[in-house]
Amino acid sequence: MRVDILGITVDTYSMQETVDQIRQAVEGQIPMRVVTANPEMIFASERNARLKKLINSADIVTADGIGVVWAARRLGAQVMERVTGIDLVHGLFPIAHVGKWRIFFLGGKPGVAEQAANQVVLMNDGISWDAMHGYFSAKEEPKILEKIQNFQPDVLLVGLGAPRQEYWIAEHPGLATVSIGVGGSFDALAG
Ligand code: UDP
Repeated sequence: MRVDILGITVDTYSMQETVDQIRQAVEGQIPMRVVTANPEMIFASERNARLKKLINSADIVTADGIGVVWAARRLGAQVMERVTGIDLVHGLFPIAHVGKWRIFFLGGKPGVAEQAANQVVLMNDGISWDAMHGYFSAKEEPKILEKIQNFQPDVLLVGLGAPRQEYWIAEHPGLATVSIGVGGSFDALAG
């Protein structure tokens, strides 16, 4: 079920259901684009038709913010939880570890994505990862795309900040089975 909040359709999945959907996509190699919709993005999309279209066309739109959850509950959603980018990263890694997934971390200041990946892998060995910072020029972009393509990630975590990461993911389909915009999560993970 999806609920319409100011024109953005948000999924009413719980955290566990969201993680299960992503696991099924990775296992079945079914392409999936995930948006964690926070209130700022929802408000911004009211004046930005391109952003609205991008969010609404995502395979999963999570409620990233308690305000989004409250709005959805008022609109009739029964089971509903806040699912932020960092919640998803934490929820996915124990599964990624079992399935030996390949995860690419893109974004953050130089060194941060590597640090975040190292922290996560400390607790969940068996995951293969690669990383790249998010301060690249248009000229550097082809090399980054090549690096991601060569790595063949199951999951591409894009932490370029919203909404840039949403545009970036939509403009570069096919880089990974599942792509997720995770905002500033790498900064938090890196500690
Ligand atoms: N960032 C980036 N490249 C840029 C601008 C920002 O990789 O050109 C990163 C920044 O280092 C931070 C994240 O994007 O890790 C944005 O985090 P923030 O918490 O501001 O964004 P939000 O979570 O609100 O989307």
